[in-house]
Amino acid sequence: MNYGAEFWGAVITAFVVGAASVAMVGWTTIRTKEVQKKSQVVLDGITGPLNALASAGLVLDIEDKIVRATKSAFALGLVRDEELAHPKLTALVAKARSVKKPTKARGRDLALVSELGKTTLFVNARAIHLGEGYVLLLVEDRTESHNLEETRRDFVANISHELKTPIGAISLLAEAIQMALDDPAQVEKFAKNLETESQRLAHLVQDIIQLSHVQAKEVAGLTKIVDLNEVVAEAVDRNQVLAGNKSIEFEVRLADRAKVFGDDELLKAAVKNLIENAVIYSDEKTAVSITVRKRKGIAEIAVSDKGPGISVEDQERIFERFYRVDPSRSRLTGGTGLGLSIVKHIAQKHLGEVQIKSKLGHGSTFTIRLPLAAKSIETSK
Ligand code: ADP
Repeated sequence: MNYGAEFWGAVITAFVVGAASVAMVGWTTIRTKEVQKKSQVVLDGITGPLNALASAGLVLDIEDKIVRATKSAFALGLVRDEELAHPKLTALVAKARSVKKPTKARGRDLALVSELGKTTLFVNARAIHLGEGYVLLLVEDRTESHNLEETRRDFVANISHELKTPIGAISLLAEAIQMALDDPAQVEKFAKNLETESQRLAHLVQDIIQLSHVQAKEVAGLTKIVDLNEVVAEAVDRNQVLAGNKSIEFEVRLADRAKVFGDDELLKAAVKNLIENAVIYSDEKTAVSITVRKRKGIAEIAVSDKGPGISVEDQERIFERFYRVDPSRSRLTGGTGLGLSIVKHIAQKHLGEVQIKSKLGHGSTFTIRLPLAAKSIETSK
């Protein structure tokens, strides 16, 4: 969670005021019993605001002993005995203490590796000198957003790699055409390949754009009531030519009043992808069935084929971006490895999921499961 400058300003001011009162009541180096009692009152006063923070908060005394800590500070493993578990944090505290006046400390991004399990936490930590050697340490766990950033970076690296292949092929084919100008048969062959590669490139770019479009969608914005029968009808229609080329028959079963909140175009794209895969990976003259049904408040769209099936190990990975079971076959079919990833994200944006049931040699069934729109809402539209 990120807090604005105003929030931090308020927190720091609150603690600085607290510290001033600590100083006022005599929280000094001479620790008389009376003073200690009063310090205790102030420390107790700090506990409330500390616990109200979403991030972890700790107060350390001049000897680096932790005198107050939030539960989340323990949960993050920042406390060992009565001291900080990470030297990097201790150094930050020492630095803050060396500044005599309370200042608005800037946060530092740190990677903290846990002793057990070696889990790395990515945090933003700031230490504020409250006066009299007391330091307030605020630690915000940013591991999740850091990992997200890493995923994005991986994705960009993958895209570059995926784009290189068709772009490289296109430039080689263009060169080959130039060199074979006096051989029309060769020119025709290379030109055909050039067309295939540029189509592959177009398909890849289209899928990348669609995936980022889906990822950018806000769940809160998916407020239209969508009839899944219409979604399936349209998705089937978009695959008719592909299926016709392989003499594959569609068996469609629809359900009454299967309506969900969502974006009809996205849902059509998801179902189209599943049907497209079913056709691509099936043998000629087989059947692909598409079924809409309702079960306990959930709408399901199941796409079944009698294709080669997918092994259990691959089932765990096929929803990853750019994952293909058989990359060389995928090159022949023109697959981008993004289709199922797009389906998964579309289902998730609709607060649903996509499941797979498959056995090698026995075909596959992919099922999109979405929460049904409540009847009262549906009829009030
Ligand atoms: P692609 O564009 O390569 O088809 P997908 O993300 O749609 O990418 O699918 C990932 C991989 O999952 C495919 O490369 C293919 O090996 C496998 N796959 C997807 N659907 C099916 C299916 N119906 N039958 C068998 N294998 C499938």
